[in-house]
Amino acid sequence: MMFEDAKKLVEQSNNIYVVGHINPDGDSIGAAFGMCLALESIGKNAKVVISKRSSVYDFLPHIDEYSVDSIKEDQYDLLICVDSSDKERLSISKEDFDKARNILVLDHHIAKIPYGDVNCIFSDLPAASQIVFDLINYLNIKIDKDIATYLYMGIMTDTGSFNYSSTKPSTFEAASVLIATGIDFADICKRVNDTKDEGVLYLIRATIENMEVYYDGQVRLSFVPYDIIKSIGLDEEDAEGMTNYLRMVKGTEVAIYIRGKSDGTNKVSLRSNGKVDVSKIAIAFGGGGHMRASGYTMPKEYNVSKKELLDMIGGML
Ligand code: 5GP
Ligand code: MN
Repeated sequence: MMFEDAKKLVEQSNNIYVVGHINPDGDSIGAAFGMCLALESIGKNAKVVISKRSSVYDFLPHIDEYSVDSIKEDQYDLLICVDSSDKERLSISKEDFDKARNILVLDHHIAKIPYGDVNCIFSDLPAASQIVFDLINYLNIKIDKDIATYLYMGIMTDTGSFNYSSTKPSTFEAASVLIATGIDFADICKRVNDTKDEGVLYLIRATIENMEVYYDGQVRLSFVPYDIIKSIGLDEEDAEGMTNYLRMVKGTEVAIYIRGKSDGTNKVSLRSNGKVDVSKIAIAFGGGGHMRASGYTMPKEYNVSKKELLDMIGGML
C-alpha cells in the first residue's frame, strides 16, 4: 500500500511543514491546512508554508495561525507537498525546501519527475484534498469539524461541486463523512463559489468583449491584459475562473482564458469538453494539469505563443 511509507515518514517526524502551489486554489489550501490541522491534532508541530492567497479564504478556521511565509529553522523533519506535480511551482523557496530531511508528495497530477522521497500520486482522484482525507484515515486521525471544513472545501472546488467527470463514488463517500462532522457546507459553497468582488463582473465583461473564436466555434479564446485587470481594481489572484464562461458556449471543445500578470508574463488557463486532452498541451508548454483542466505560463512573446497554442489545438481537433 502506497500510504505505508507515508505513515512511516509521519511517525518518525516531529517538525513538519506542509506546502501547496503558488497562487493557491481551494484544493491546494484545503489539502495543505487539512493535513496540517490533522498533524497538530496528534501532537506534531505543523505549519503551512504559504505566500500570497486570495482573501476569499480568510473565513477558514485558524488559517493565519498556521500560516508561515518562510522557515526559520536550519533543518526540519518533513515537508509534505500537496497538489503540485511541479517542484518549481511549490509555494516555498528552494532554500527552505532543501532544509527538509524528507519530502512526502501527495498529489493528483501526473508528475513528469516525482520529486518526493515518498510519492503518493493518485491521478484518478479529483482532488488532492481527497488524498489527504484517505491518508488521515489511514493514520487513524479523527477528522474534526475544522479539518472537515478544509477537506470539504478542497474537494468541492476541484470537482466543480461534485459535477466534473473526475468525481468518483469514493468522493461522495468522503463528502458524506465530512458533512457528518457538522460543517456548514452551504456556507462554504456560498463563500468560496458564490461570493465575488464587484470587479469580477467587469472582468466577465472584458472576457466576453475580448473573445476570439476559432475552428468553427470549437475553440474560444480570451486574453485580458494586465492593465485591464489593474484598471478593474481586482487582485491578481481573483482574476481567474473566466475559462468556464467560454467553455459553456455550445459547440466549444477547448476554452482558453489568458490573463496578463503584474510580472509581465501571461497565464494560460485551458478547459476541454472532452475531445482534446489539454494536459498534453500544457505539459508541452511547460505547465501541467488534467485532461479537462490545465494551465501554463506563456513561454514566448504573446502573439508567437498564441499561434503555437492554436496550431497545436488545431492538430488535435
Ligand atoms: P487553472 O486553469 O485553474 O489555473 O488550472 C487548472 C489546472 O492546471 C490545475 O490542476 C492546475 O494545478 C494546473 N495548472 C495550472 N497552471 C499550471 C502551471 O503553470 N503549471 C502546472 N504544472 N500546472 C498548472
Ligand atoms: Mn487540485
